Amino acid sequence: MRPAVIVFGGHDPSGGAGITADVAALVALGCHPVVVVTGITVQNTQAVKRYRLLEPELVAEQAAALMEDVPVSACKIGMLGSADMVGVVAEAISGLPGAPLVLDPVLRADRGAALSEPGLVDALRTALVPRATVLTPNIQECLDLGDATETPAAARALLDRGSRAVLVTGTHAPTDNVIHRLYRSSSDEVIVSEWPRLDGVFHGSGCTLAAAIAGQLALGEAVCEAVDAALRYTWQTLQGAYRPGGGQLVPDRLYPLRAPRP
Ligand code: PLP
Repeated sequence: MRPAVIVFGGHDPSGGAGITADVAALVALGCHPVVVVTGITVQNTQAVKRYRLLEPELVAEQAAALMEDVPVSACKIGMLGSADMVGVVAEAISGLPGAPLVLDPVLRADRGAALSEPGLVDALRTALVPRATVLTPNIQECLDLGDATETPAAARALLDRGSRAVLVTGTHAPTDNVIHRLYRSSSDEVIVSEWPRLDGVFHGSGCTLAAAIAGQLALGEAVCEAVDAALRYTWQTLQGAYRPGGGQLVPDRLYPLRAPRP
């Protein structure tokens, strides 16, 4: 059985992030990705030059065509770019009430370039955060979305809005090890996960992690186990990362499929 995961996200032609990253991670974990493209970016491994969103109707049609055909076990949402796109995607996934949803609130590229229009944060907060099984913001995205100055308060605000869990990733924090924190609506306890910091600047690690959580949920794992397995998978992809161009490192997402060399 290969459970299908529906992905909504943007195309990064460098192969580092976006739907290429999602597809590779989901295939590596034994899922079948079905993909609704929300927009394209113009970028290579060194810089994001610009992006363009698709017409919302085209996005709605892609989703409808897939959902009338393929039974979907989980959803993963990445770059949406605008409040209009949030509306279209929220409407599309209302047809999947039982499927777990992993929401990666992509507001800007990891190199700082904006991948969003004004109004996106408000729209995400009201239309999609309440529906999320796991939200995967980095610290800045958590503060922006949760509208607070401290991460724990922001994460709790997002749980109060209805997200079942918030995984705040700590890659950009100035700590020796990378520390991720999982906040859950079902408990006051915060699950802390600490990983040795790897050298290098990676592109697409957030997409890889969110797709892997969606894949694990589609395979039937509970939230804590799905997050734990996805963090382990993502760290391994970063440990094996390679440099296809002159810029950032790209995670080795297909490593589970390769037989060891003789
Ligand atoms: N989605 C798209 C289409 C992107 O271009 C990017 C970054 O450039 C992202 C998502 C976020 O990437 P990351 O996983 O590095 O946060």
